[in-house]
Amino acid sequence: MKAIYPGSFDPVTSGHVDIIQRAAKVFDEVVVALAVNLEKNPFFTIDERLAMLRDACSHLDNVRVDFFGGLLVDYVENQGAKVVIKGLRAVSDFEFELQMALTNKRLKDSVETLFMMTSAEYSFLSSSLVKELAAFGASLAGLVPKAVEDRFQAKMQQRRQEAIDL
Ligand code: ADP
Repeated sequence: MKAIYPGSFDPVTSGHVDIIQRAAKVFDEVVVALAVNLEKNPFFTIDERLAMLRDACSHLDNVRVDFFGGLLVDYVENQGAKVVIKGLRAVSDFEFELQMALTNKRLKDSVETLFMMTSAEYSFLSSSLVKELAAFGASLAGLVPKAVEDRFQAKMQQRRQEAIDL
């Protein structure tokens, strides 16, 4: 069975990778789907986020990275899938995820949302936390895949250069 794991992945973190790896053991195929219209003001471009995701998933044979615009349930149906995977960290995630799952169920009854609990070591981790840490120059080792660490450094360097050029 195929499962879709949607998100904004701005950027992908070790918490996302953990969910992807675990889902890949349960499902025959996992499609990690970047929702292009979720974040209005993303830090990384769509191409950068896709490149980091592809790198982070390259060791997983049954995982594919893709992107979509519009409604998730339409994308899921077009992919010939019936299952959406979501990760749950804390109670704070629950209310939003419940609302989304019920909305999607109402839009398309054939699509089921399945939740996977975060691993304890990543329960505090989010893309926004990672961006904040990076802005203050803190180490991201272990919190994000290596490709993301490198991409942050390149981006910070580029921003410093732009500030100098102004
Ligand atoms: P974030 O919530 O970090 O901004 P996304 O919108 O890209 O990230 O999230 C995509 C999915 O990954 C959501 O289902 C979200 O709950 C889940 N997720 C994000 N971080 C973690 C984590 N540390 N552990 C488990 N699931 C996570």
